[in-house]
Amino acid sequence: MKSTVNGDSAGGALVSQQEPDHPASLRQADRVRLRFATWLGDLAALASRALGKGSGASIRGQVLTKLAPDAFQLLLREPRVLAVSGTNGKTTTTHLLAAVIREELAGASGRLVTNADGANLRYGIASALSQARDADIAVLETDERVVSDMIAYGNPEVLVFLNFSRDQLDRHHEIKALGKAWRFALGKAGVTGPVVIANAADPLVVWSAQTAAKVVWVDTALLWSADSALCPACGSVLRRVPAPGAGGDQPGSYLRWDCPACPLTQPEAEYSVRGPLIKLPDGRLIDPQLRVPGSFNISNAAMALAAASAFGVGVETALKGMRKVVSPAGRYATAVFGQTRARLLLAKNPAGWAEALPLLASDPVVLAIDSVAADGKDVSWLWDVDYEQLAGRQVICSGPRAQDLAVRLSHAGVEHQIVPDLREALDVGGADSDPAEPARVVDVIATYTPFQALLKMAGLLPGSKPPGRRLPPSTPQSADTTHQEQR
Ligand SMILES: [Zn+2]
Repeated sequence: MKSTVNGDSAGGALVSQQEPDHPASLRQADRVRLRFATWLGDLAALASRALGKGSGASIRGQVLTKLAPDAFQLLLREPRVLAVSGTNGKTTTTHLLAAVIREELAGASGRLVTNADGANLRYGIASALSQARDADIAVLETDERVVSDMIAYGNPEVLVFLNFSRDQLDRHHEIKALGKAWRFALGKAGVTGPVVIANAADPLVVWSAQTAAKVVWVDTALLWSADSALCPACGSVLRRVPAPGAGGDQPGSYLRWDCPACPLTQPEAEYSVRGPLIKLPDGRLIDPQLRVPGSFNISNAAMALAAASAFGVGVETALKGMRKVVSPAGRYATAVFGQTRARLLLAKNPAGWAEALPLLASDPVVLAIDSVAADGKDVSWLWDVDYEQLAGRQVICSGPRAQDLAVRLSHAGVEHQIVPDLREALDVGGADSDPAEPARVVDVIATYTPFQALLKMAGLLPGSKPPGRRLPPSTPQSADTTHQEQR
């Protein structure tokens, strides 16, 4: 817990730690019932795999929770829980944190369970937990809507709050209501509640975490602020003021937010992101040397470091673990589609696009947009994204909503063509590749559904069969060990 924040290099501390004093273990009757429901869920998953419909994790969870509606509560009783939530970065941060724990556990990685595939609703979490009943540590990506239940039933030791932004307009249309629910659940949990690792740069996260008994603030130097213009406490327009000690540093880089009308202000952080570096509570500046790209992943790593520390894992061990993460749940993976070698980036909302666009290194690039439930049915968010930065590059618009993107790009003055079929778009993207330059990679940014389709085409989804050639073992995607966690 927080008292162990400075327990650096405490290698093995976690391994030798006594069993946690969780509420009573499961009753025999609950055990039998769960075992039966799990068995039928496994059977359903097996059938799903046999039919080539993916890993079956989803159907397993649905069968399990249908037969044992309290599976989520019951299965969460036994392990020590670290939970990760927020709009953007929760899959990657969960992978980073799982890698940290795996590193700490060394040879005993069977003690860890995680929902590495990102199935983060109640049944997804129950499904993952049901597959690793001997695990005593759970690192769980948790959907924002499940956080209150996670606090109430999971009794997490550490809870990571990354950020809040508008996700799918038709689903999370009121992020403030979610913040309110978190705030209430933490207040109710009181002193027995989790240590919250909270992003100090996000006003709504700060307001949501205020009721927690223990908070470790992390200044992530958040990039996206369009969703946090108003004070969540009083509704006034927030202002940006120079942070204390910003001194002669670059103008604008060390601003903090502040409400002019009420006491809410950016709290002083124990961990801070400073460009590519992370400042630790003891003042040390470290370079995390991650293998996942982007400044937002430095922020995710800072959150994961703080969480690791609160859980009793030292900085060196944590960094060593995080450096093993390469393509969490397929993000940033490079795969070959016919003649085209493509790097796969996911962006689910305007904040995600703001993070992903600066990573684009190729010309042309492929952008794939869909608008089924998982992507958000309302594509008006396209107008909130700064596509103007793509000027001078050729964009191939793909996916069922390629036309909407094309309209947006026309307004942005970006050259583009429309190729709705994903596979065709990749072919077009790689058409001019020089065979003598095999290293050339076409960057693809996709919303959720086309991203999953790409993973499936590349054989990177659990349970999917690779239709074509996969990359040799030296490439990033196959070096990533985090996919193999829960199978
Ligand atoms: Zn205010």
